[in-house]
Amino acid sequence: MYRKIKGTEDIYGEEIKYWYFIENTAREVSRIYGYEEIRTPIFERTELFVRSVGEETDIVQKEMYTFEDKGGRSLTLRPEGTAPTIRAFVENSMIASGLPRRLFYIGPMFRYERPQSGRQRQFHQFGIELLGSSSPLGDAEAIMLADNFLRKLGLVDYKIVINSIGCEKCRPKYKEALKEYYSNILDKVCDDCKRRYETNILRLLDCKVDSSYAENAPKMKDYLCTECKSHYEETKKLLETLEVAYEENFNLVRGLDYYNGIVFEIHHSRLGAQSAIGGGGRYDKLIEEIGGPKTPSLGFAMGIERLIIALKKENVPVEEWRNNEVFIAHLGHEAKIEAIKIAEELRKNEISVVFNTMERGLSAQLKHAARLKCKLCIIVGENELERDVVILRNLETGDQVEIERTFIVGTAKEWLQD
Ligand SMILES: [Zn+2]
Ligand SMILES: [Zn+2]
Repeated sequence: MYRKIKGTEDIYGEEIKYWYFIENTAREVSRIYGYEEIRTPIFERTELFVRSVGEETDIVQKEMYTFEDKGGRSLTLRPEGTAPTIRAFVENSMIASGLPRRLFYIGPMFRYERPQSGRQRQFHQFGIELLGSSSPLGDAEAIMLADNFLRKLGLVDYKIVINSIGCEKCRPKYKEALKEYYSNILDKVCDDCKRRYETNILRLLDCKVDSSYAENAPKMKDYLCTECKSHYEETKKLLETLEVAYEENFNLVRGLDYYNGIVFEIHHSRLGAQSAIGGGGRYDKLIEEIGGPKTPSLGFAMGIERLIIALKKENVPVEEWRNNEVFIAHLGHEAKIEAIKIAEELRKNEISVVFNTMERGLSAQLKHAARLKCKLCIIVGENELERDVVILRNLETGDQVEIERTFIVGTAKEWLQD
């Protein structure tokens, strides 16, 4: 027997309704905010991710699914959705049709991590990118969209956390201050942080192991330049005006290199150690970095697997996938042909019908109908057909009537609505 690869999941049965619910809600909220869908390939040139996500990040260092194809090219299964979206934006000259461009995506991403609850090696994200806005209005729009999406899902136990990590003008001074602070305690921090001290000093702030040292570290807010400070303050003011609840966390830095200015994360209070259900921020230099024109931009992504855990923890009722409404059982050869005609008539009326395609007796057919959780069963028998009637049975209540052939669709519709 073949088994699925570690860190992957088969999604089926009762789980599917959660996926439909989240995907449909994501599309609907995106539509309301004027975002259009983009579907990029699952794999790209490795170089794209190294360049954009950053050489020194955990993703590029140890988490990418990289392989060589038969043509000798180094390809990588996308570990995140922003770099491919930007690549498509530049390659297809989308800038020509005017800025800003609002895009969203839904799909699988791949990272080689230790699998745990809500963290698979193939995982799925819904994300948006607002390309070409340098205004705090853009930051506020993205955060509002995220908030509205979560509300529409019915979630309440989450909080939005924001920070500013400054720009290329003000961040270097801050990094110096951090280096000085950590230089005295470098022997106490974890091995990852010892390495990051040289390569990515900001990441020491969100290390789970060394959080006690981060608490007393210098804060970016005290180093922001005038532009960064006013951008940050104006965004906060907009959120307050629009009554979007948020908290500030001055140690929030995000794991990817391309961010600048405002970054944010959304945490769910009942998800334990892996509490982030989404995050994003501004990446004003990224498009230039991968060869496009200067286009200040921002975006966020949410993890669908974690959203599903959150929905379950909060007991949010999710609409059942409405299938298998009516089962059609039949007895005898003549009845078989009449039964399949009735099935098609009901289907033309948008009713989900399961037809008996096995050579089975009546009791086996009814047993199957019950297993499929059909609400109604129509029994087409040869004796009844001679009188131009069929039997309609409610499988939930056991009620049963004989109805004339011509009234089947109308009566079935009525009974389904009860
Ligand atoms: Zn700045
Ligand atoms: Zn550490």
